[in-house]
Amino acid sequence: MSFLRGEEGDWEVVVGMEIHAQVLTRSKLFSGSDASFGGSPNGHVSLVDAGMPGMLPVLNAACVKQAIRAGLALGAEINGRSLFARKHYFYPDLPQGYQISQYESPIVGRGCVKIETESGEEKEIRIERAHLEQDAGKSLHDQKPGASLIDLNRSGVALLEIVSFPDLRSAEECGLYMSKVRSILRAVGVCDGNMAEGSLRADVNLSLRRRGEEALGTRTEMKNLNSVKFIRQAVELESRRQLELLERGEEVLQETRLFDPVKGETRAMRSKEEAHDYRYFPCPDLLPVLVSEEEIEEERRLLPELPDERRARLMSEYGLGRYEAVVLSEESEFVNYFEEAVGEGGSGKLVANWMLSELFGLLNKRDIGIESSPIASKRLGLLVGLIGEGVISGKVGKQVFAKMLDEDTLPSAIVKREGWEVMSDVSVLEDIVEKLMSDHSDQVASYRGGKEKVLGWFVGQVMKETRGTASPEEVNRVLKEKLQG
Ligand code: MN
Repeated sequence: MSFLRGEEGDWEVVVGMEIHAQVLTRSKLFSGSDASFGGSPNGHVSLVDAGMPGMLPVLNAACVKQAIRAGLALGAEINGRSLFARKHYFYPDLPQGYQISQYESPIVGRGCVKIETESGEEKEIRIERAHLEQDAGKSLHDQKPGASLIDLNRSGVALLEIVSFPDLRSAEECGLYMSKVRSILRAVGVCDGNMAEGSLRADVNLSLRRRGEEALGTRTEMKNLNSVKFIRQAVELESRRQLELLERGEEVLQETRLFDPVKGETRAMRSKEEAHDYRYFPCPDLLPVLVSEEEIEEERRLLPELPDERRARLMSEYGLGRYEAVVLSEESEFVNYFEEAVGEGGSGKLVANWMLSELFGLLNKRDIGIESSPIASKRLGLLVGLIGEGVISGKVGKQVFAKMLDEDTLPSAIVKREGWEVMSDVSVLEDIVEKLMSDHSDQVASYRGGKEKVLGWFVGQVMKETRGTASPEEVNRVLKEKLQG
């Protein structure tokens, strides 16, 4: 458990998160308009999305199915009966004057998401509920001088809002929770997880309390954080700000604050409204949503392998360590790549090492996803296979990897062409060692006189002579044998 250390003792950071996920469906929650991202401005807008008088929403069954899938994947109860309600507020890009959401009876009830901290601690974050609601449009303030424009393409797209209990205790935990929810939603195909495009965004509710206290402090809310990095930064900054206030004896005001990543601060936007300010009431245009046990079981049966299951399988089937398994299980593409590489003869452990260090290092550097990797899974598997079989050393493997970036050649062909195979002819090795010994009789004498460090120097010389293609174990063995005379 981590605490914030203040001048007057320890404080506990308490965070609950609301994650809005854009639900992947062809059409919107209550209309037949195209729900995909982009398109020409106001090109994906029906009368319902534009809030025209007399329009009537019609519930899209595909969105309900997606909510059930997500709920099951989040280990949550699915409510057989849920209700839509109107949540009233005014935004220029909300033409209805209210958002159709779910209030008292959401479709998804209590659930649980597991996270693993870097120190290996496993923690359960409880989900309070998840509900379906409409997204609003978009106001564009930088397209036309002196005017704001409105694009309603996003208006009416289905969102699933996932609300956690205030179980999160640090910036690290908040980041891990966000990544895990993203990974789960992607695994079941409910959301594309593209945070930069806004299809997944988080609101963070944060308060502080003294160590050991039960009652929650006054919280602030930071809305629409659209990257894991921003979530972590916002939690760090806001918890420091509250700590300073509280230790000075001042109050934290309940308000919505804006996180500004450029200035590295959070600042007040508006005082936070309470639920009753929205004048929620059941939407008279929509019937209660009824879901049968059979429909729920059908969706459960269709669930693919979830990240936690993938992780457990990578550990038991391939003997991977916890950390490697956690990282690789985050994306199904990682697991597919891994298994294809292992299929070419690389051992699981070694393939995982190469993916986490060399491959991910490369992808990060080039800022590309694994699907655009210049080295396909099969070629990496073949390369790792050569190392595992002792054909090349790990060090030479890195050189081969570098060459593979520029040419679409099999690793074995590169090794052969460059003459990089491990030197397996012991007599050649013995000749090199003997020559070195006669050229450096002083070093031989000092080794025999008890200076064992000299062995390392000899190993270095042999590796230089053989351009790194000798097996270090073999070099050590031959050297010791000859030096001990
Ligand atoms: Mn919401």
